[in-house]
Amino acid sequence: VRVTFTPIHRREGGIAGTIAVLQDVTEQENLEASRREFVANVSHELRTPLTTIKSYAEALGDGALEDPQLAGRFVGVIRSETERMIRLVTDLLHLSRLDSREAQLRYQETDISEMLEDVADRFSFQIRQKRISISIVIRRGISTAWLDRDQIDQVLGNLVSNALKYTQEGGSIGLEAGRNPEGMLEISVRDSGIGIPKKDIERIFERFYRVDKARSRNMGGTGLGLSIAREIVKAHGGTISLQSELNKGSKVTFTLPLEKQRRDQA
Ligand code: ADP
Repeated sequence: VRVTFTPIHRREGGIAGTIAVLQDVTEQENLEASRREFVANVSHELRTPLTTIKSYAEALGDGALEDPQLAGRFVGVIRSETERMIRLVTDLLHLSRLDSREAQLRYQETDISEMLEDVADRFSFQIRQKRISISIVIRRGISTAWLDRDQIDQVLGNLVSNALKYTQEGGSIGLEAGRNPEGMLEISVRDSGIGIPKKDIERIFERFYRVDKARSRNMGGTGLGLSIAREIVKAHGGTISLQSELNKGSKVTFTLPLEKQRRDQA
């Protein structure tokens, strides 16, 4: 609590009294602290690839260029680090648009089954490469919903990409759509992967929060996928949650309003 005292002066001199203003600043301070942490995280995430790029470029300049094989490898590292930086900046821009509500949702009537098949198709190469079996289940009564197809595609893409990243070869991934008891559309992405320790689950939707930083980076992750998914689902008026068991697998479930009217009322 911040307390400010302002004395009330009498015209003829002397003090008639004091006004005390009590202000609850905890929320403000928390906000400020999380903003500072976010900036520190962004700086660090950008600095890491930049340092790598710098040292590889220097090595090339210092003679590695003469060895074509070495040079090829170094250029490969520079390229992949640059690509990761571009992904990071793209994710950050997307988040900032979602934060400022600048991103108007473009609702369209969407066939749920087609949307899930579509996301599975987009990842078919990696799915085959890792010999993952994938199943899609559409519960009875689910056909279409009003949603921003591009944005929900991104949510599904982030979730399936995580399921793929954090599941061993030969594992399984399941997509399922149904209706929850509240009458909302409920979509889940389940995997038989490495799972998430209990202590990390509640923080996993925070920006840059990762169970294993090195592993996520190696996989090309930015640490922003789940937080972007959460913002998009929130913008639609839905919720998102994660259940997981270490070494067994994870399941992310999100809900969306099924009908157009519901959104208009919101
Ligand atoms: P990242 O780019 O690191 O994957 P995300 O925001 O998508 O960022 O996920 C945050 C962290 O949550 C990941 O680094 C990983 O530790 C954990 N995670 C997310 N999805 C899964 C999953 N399906 N299985 C295991 N861990 C996961």
